[in-house]
Amino acid sequence: MAHSVDFYDVLGVARDADDGEIKKAYRKLAMEHHPDRNNGDKASEERFKEITEAYEVLRDPEKRAAYDRYGIAGIRGRGPSGADSIHFDLSEALSVFMRDFGGLGGGFDAIFGGGQRTQRDRHRGQDLKVALKLTLAEVATGTQKSVRVRTLDRCPVCSGSGAKAGTRAVTCGTCRGTGEVRRNAQSIFGQFLTVSPCPTCGGDGTIVEKPCERCDGDGRVKAEKTVQIDVPAGVADHHYLTLRGHGVPGPRGGPPGDLIAVLDIKEDPRFERRGDDLVYDLPVSFTQAALGAEIDVPTPYGQSTLRIAAGTQTGSVHRIRGKGLPRIGEGGHGDLHVRVHVWTPTKLNAEQRRLLEQLSEVEGTPPAESTGKHLWEELKRALGI
Ligand SMILES: [Zn+2]
Ligand SMILES: [Zn+2]
Repeated sequence: MAHSVDFYDVLGVARDADDGEIKKAYRKLAMEHHPDRNNGDKASEERFKEITEAYEVLRDPEKRAAYDRYGIAGIRGRGPSGADSIHFDLSEALSVFMRDFGGLGGGFDAIFGGGQRTQRDRHRGQDLKVALKLTLAEVATGTQKSVRVRTLDRCPVCSGSGAKAGTRAVTCGTCRGTGEVRRNAQSIFGQFLTVSPCPTCGGDGTIVEKPCERCDGDGRVKAEKTVQIDVPAGVADHHYLTLRGHGVPGPRGGPPGDLIAVLDIKEDPRFERRGDDLVYDLPVSFTQAALGAEIDVPTPYGQSTLRIAAGTQTGSVHRIRGKGLPRIGEGGHGDLHVRVHVWTPTKLNAEQRRLLEQLSEVEGTPPAESTGKHLWEELKRALGI
């Protein structure tokens, strides 16, 4: 920017104006030309920078004296960092205004919430939620599932930019593509930095002058996709699996949200799940219980053989180590607890009846006290409940 202009003229003040007059004149002009009030209009932005530069020189007695005496040459290179202090970019100009006037009245929302979303957050696509149905066997071994999802995809015409073919989204001049405006502000707590979405581009960082006709400038189109989800072994019902970055892409090239799979584990009627442990009810015949036997028991990993001792009682619990579900994050597996029930036949053929009647003549009498309570205690002990 050329500085052939006179700083006093820029602010419209007399050469002998005092500090109060300079401040007042600047404030009035700044409120008028502030980019937040002019939708990023370039001419206003230039004017805002110009008046701020003039104000920053004239408000400082030392700089003002040098300027009065030597003109622009007198203050060049005297910025706080040794840099040329009179060339402000917009963010520096906004900082000056914030420092002395606290912005347009809403300048503090960054620290009081509301202005903290960065460009990344603002541009991020939505999370995509899917319900994932699993069987217990899939939980036991872990699995890979494919799910069809309705989502959005990058627009193939504009490659997600949102700009019409042959045109490009241009970098926003106000924020220089960052999507946010950082301002140094003074408060009773001292100086701090406020960050708010860029008023010119709404936080996009770019401005689409001619929107793509296919996606209307959004950069995304409707799509159906198949997503592969790796389900680790041992997951629990209603747990979530989060696949970072597999959600809906953000508008105009913004980062995608996450894919969240909510697990819906189908109950396996054979097993009762208690954390990593499983409980299975095993009916055995009277003779198996009385004589002992080797019996096949289902597990989530296939059949397993359980040996029950002679004299096994109803309700006794047998543990098959490691045949429960995998312990997620800890390694190892829970156990399968097999709860034995002696099954009483409801229909007897003639031979069975004859043999049982024969047995009844020689069998002993059961103990007086009920064993039911004792066996329930045993189950609770086995399960640690
Ligand atoms: Zn498009
Ligand atoms: Zn911007």
